[in-house]
Amino acid sequence: MIDSYGREINYLRVSVTKRCNLSCTYCGAQSEKENNELTAEETEKIVRAFALCGINKVRLTGGEPLVRRDICDIAERISRIDGIRKLALTTNGIRLKEYAGSLKKAGVTAVNISLDTTDRERFRSITGYDGLHKVYEGIDECERVGLSPIRINAVLIRGQNDGDAESLISIARDRKIDVRFIELMPFSNEGDNAKLVIKSDEILEKFPFLKPAAQKGTPFEKSVARYYEGEGFKGRIGFITPISDKFCSECNRIRLLSDGKVKVCLGSDEVIDLKPYLDDESELEKAVKKAILKKPMEHKFSCGYGASHGLNKIGG
Ligand code: SAM
Repeated sequence: MIDSYGREINYLRVSVTKRCNLSCTYCGAQSEKENNELTAEETEKIVRAFALCGINKVRLTGGEPLVRRDICDIAERISRIDGIRKLALTTNGIRLKEYAGSLKKAGVTAVNISLDTTDRERFRSITGYDGLHKVYEGIDECERVGLSPIRINAVLIRGQNDGDAESLISIARDRKIDVRFIELMPFSNEGDNAKLVIKSDEILEKFPFLKPAAQKGTPFEKSVARYYEGEGFKGRIGFITPISDKFCSECNRIRLLSDGKVKVCLGSDEVIDLKPYLDDESELEKAVKKAILKKPMEHKFSCGYGASHGLNKIGG
């Protein structure tokens, strides 16, 4: 459906939990107990209402979606909904080896894996867990079972892991995996965000062999990443720049939080609770429509939105 600013909203990000098995320094998250998560059935009902309003692509995220024991049930229910043409998942990869095959069977096709470093010790210091090898095993398993595309999303932070750009880029050189750098957003108490953000120009200057690639977005699947390629590379390098180059006018997404509230924009406090409408399909659909119409023209990160809204709660 078209929102109040003429954008077609067709992409729903579903945060299935606030809980996470990692505690990344920049995410602003401490692992939380949560007892008001939507059930798989409630999630299905809400996504069905979104599908009636034109949503055709869904991404499961969190928190860490793979800490939900019923994640494959959730995926299967969503993938069977009329109108849902694509189901993807974003994960930290720790439990991916265990789940990749079942997720594929449940209808998930694409997987984004968050990985900010290729160094075991730095991985431990960023995430609080010595689990780099598990992420690699998860990536291997995704390839083995045929999940595609597989993408790695990395957040570089000045003075912390900026030295990892080269080894992360080399993953795209060697494997059919796109590696995308996401600018640090001001969600945690990491200090002065502006000083910590590594912008795409800075990375591109260091790696001049990266040249703009054909951008593959379609109206169905608009990409927020700008892609580059290197000669002989099997995958591409992408940049997602919510801070230095807002893409709000192109934004086609809306977010469902794990407690049944809709977050209309990552950078806004506006939420609409859908739980009261769960027992009435037509009221639920109306509430979803209203939520989509509340999507603001643009995010407010640059106006100091931040610290209290860790991405673990919102679903990155
Ligand atoms: N647990 C899953 C994962 O790790 O991919 C999904 C949730 S996580 C919040 C989603 C993405 O948000 C991760 O790629 C993470 O790096 C990113 N993220 C978290 N905090 C961020 C921040 N302050 N700025 C930019 N990206 C952030």
